[in-house]
Amino acid sequence: MASDRRGRYTCAMTASLARGALDLIGDTPLVRVSRLDTGPCELWLKLESQNPGGSIKDRIGRSMIEAAEQDGKLGPHQRRLVEATAGNTGLGLALVAAQKGYALTLVIPDKMSREKILHLKALGARVVITRSDVEKGHPDYYQDLALAIAREDGAFFVNQFENPANPLAHERTTGPEIAAALGGKLDAMVVGVGSGGTLTGLSRAFARLVPGCEMVLADPEGSILAGYVRTGKIGKAGSWVVEGIGEDFVPANADLSRVRHAYTVPDRESLAAARDLLRHEGILGGSSTGTLLAAALRHCRAQSEPRRVCTLVPDSGNKYLSKMYDDFWMADQGFLDRTPTGDLRELVS
Ligand code: PMP
Repeated sequence: MASDRRGRYTCAMTASLARGALDLIGDTPLVRVSRLDTGPCELWLKLESQNPGGSIKDRIGRSMIEAAEQDGKLGPHQRRLVEATAGNTGLGLALVAAQKGYALTLVIPDKMSREKILHLKALGARVVITRSDVEKGHPDYYQDLALAIAREDGAFFVNQFENPANPLAHERTTGPEIAAALGGKLDAMVVGVGSGGTLTGLSRAFARLVPGCEMVLADPEGSILAGYVRTGKIGKAGSWVVEGIGEDFVPANADLSRVRHAYTVPDRESLAAARDLLRHEGILGGSSTGTLLAAALRHCRAQSEPRRVCTLVPDSGNKYLSKMYDDFWMADQGFLDRTPTGDLRELVS
C-alpha cells in the first residue's frame, strides 16, 4: 500500500497469486533504515524474515532438496533426510519436505529456542536434541551425531556445511535480487556466517554483478571467524547467545577470501541493536539480525563519504519473544540492569 500526494492510501493492485508455499520463497523486500544513526551512509535491510518458513534458510531448504532430487540422491527410492541445524535450516527443510512427502530428522543443539523446536515438530519433523557444550569431533556434537544417524538409518545427509546447493541458492537468487533492487549500486554487504552459504553465494554473485561491493563479516564475540579473517589463525572458541551465526570452525562452504572487514560484536550490542530496530524502525528481527545491524551501523558510522550499505534480517524475532524481547530474560542474562525499585533499565553499551 502506498500513499498519494494528499496522503491517501492507494493500492498498486500488483499482489501476485502463488501456486503454493514454495513459490513464496525469495523475492523478499528491501527497506531503508530511516531513524537509526547511519552516519553518512544509506543502509538497506533485506527482509528474509518474510519467507514462508520465516527465514533466509527456506531458500536453501528448497535448493538442497531439489539438487538432491536432480542428482538422484532423493526420490521414490530414498524418502528420508537427516540434517544438523540450529533451527532455521530445519524449518526450511521441513517446509519443503512436508510439501514433497519426505521424512525429515533434525539434530539440534540444546541452546536453541523452544519456539523453533515446537515449530519443527508441528511441521512433522523428528527432532533429536543434543548437547551444545561439546566441540566438533565429539560423538554428541550435533553435526557428528547427524552423520551417525544418517548412516544408521540409510538416509540422505543434507549437510548444509558442505552442500554446494547451499551457496548456489544465494548466488542464483539472494544476490541477484539485491543487485537488481538497488540498481546495481552497492558499496558494502554485511553478512554473518553459520554455514557460510549466504556469504559465499553473495560474494560470487556480487563479483559478477556489483564487482566494487566489499563483503563485511559480522561475527558474534566468542566465534573464531572474525579473528580468522584478521589473523589467518583459528583461536579458541567461546560461547554466545546469538543464534544461527558464529562458528568454532571454518565451514567448507564459507569462502572468506572476499571479506574486507570483520566486526566482532558482543551479545549485548547485538541484542540492543535488534531491540532498537523494532522500537525505532518497526522491524522485528531475530538475534542474528542484531549482530548484522550492529556491525552495519559501526561500518556506516566509520565512513567519511556517503556509501550504500546493505544487510539482512535473516529471520523474524517472533521465535525469540520469550528471550531477547523479554525484559526479565534480558535482566537474568545481565543484558539489562535491575534498579533497586525492581524497574528494568536498558544498559548503555
Ligand atoms: N541468521 C540466522 C538466524 C540463521 O539461522 C543462519 C543460518 N544458521 C544465518 C544467519 C547464517 O546463514 P549461513 O548459514 O548462510 O551462513
